[in-house]
Amino acid sequence: MTPSQIVKYLDQHVVGQEEAKRQLAVAIHTHYKKIALAGPDKVEIIKSNVLLVGPTGTGKTLVCETLARVLQVPFVTANATSLAQSEYVNEEIEAILLRLIDKAEGDVGRAQRGIVFIDEIDKLKAISGQQGQVRGTSGEGVQHALLKIMEGVPVKIRGAQYIDTTQVLFICGGAFVGLEENRARTRAFGFISTSESDNQKMLDRLNSRIKPTDLFEFGLIQEFAGRLPIIAHFNPLSRDMMVRIMTEPKNSIYRQFHQMLANDGVELTIEALVFEQIADLAMEYGVGARSLRGIFEEMLTPTMYLLPDHPEVRQVKFVSLFEEPKFIGARPAG
Ligand code: ADP
Repeated sequence: MTPSQIVKYLDQHVVGQEEAKRQLAVAIHTHYKKIALAGPDKVEIIKSNVLLVGPTGTGKTLVCETLARVLQVPFVTANATSLAQSEYVNEEIEAILLRLIDKAEGDVGRAQRGIVFIDEIDKLKAISGQQGQVRGTSGEGVQHALLKIMEGVPVKIRGAQYIDTTQVLFICGGAFVGLEENRARTRAFGFISTSESDNQKMLDRLNSRIKPTDLFEFGLIQEFAGRLPIIAHFNPLSRDMMVRIMTEPKNSIYRQFHQMLANDGVELTIEALVFEQIADLAMEYGVGARSLRGIFEEMLTPTMYLLPDHPEVRQVKFVSLFEEPKFIGARPAG
């Protein structure tokens, strides 16, 4: 698949985040091309792992999951915080790779071309700096352990078998709170002055890039940061994006519930105002799109409770989050 085809597919599932989608599509396309070209007597092309920077609940995991689905490669997620909480980080990493093999239905060859997403990579410093931490692995220890698999040192699993992670694509993610502000402050510099707007654009792009030194502040060690040359940004979600997330994607929450009720011959109608009200609440909760489902389900639970007892109802209509829904067909009592 070409990068633009990948983006087209992503667009059906992930709202917004255009720049990040493009970057990832190119990274993925290049990665699998390298694998296809790799051979015993060819020039070895070094793999480029990816870092996703952006607030929680903005689609970082979703994009990776969706990419893996379209490429039909196994995908697992792991969490850097829980790695740091374990005394036996190597065993934890082995467990991640075992899950990858499970996702590949036991086919180690397929697992070796999979994608591993490691979240909360920005929390390593905070974790290992915690007062009174007796157990666990230092942030550096976790990174050294991860580096080994990122570089493809063969890992012994289940005692006998080996998995070679040379071609596994590692995507790390983190919120890196405060980094955006730092970038905004330092962005202004640019000693190569030019009047040509194209050059200016390139310069702006370079200046707005996160530098490895920015990552050191979050406890990432040089070797580790150096292994993540591609950095993609995820933007905070706007109210409008929240509304779109509920309605637009192929399997959006709204579509899911609409389908569920339609299966019982009931049409679910939710007016625009309701989506806006839910979006407003979600904005307040501050965990990106993560809170949407909860609010949505809470709104629908009383209806879902009543409907099975009232097969005569043909339509349920929500006009406001703070008003009872209208039942059309017959109003159920109780
Ligand atoms: P994170 O950025 O923390 O990895 P996730 O990708 O896990 O966030 O997002 C949590 C949930 O919120 C997803 O399962 C998805 O339903 C929804 N979501 C978040 N961002 C988007 C988006 N840009 N487009 C569509 N759905 C989204």
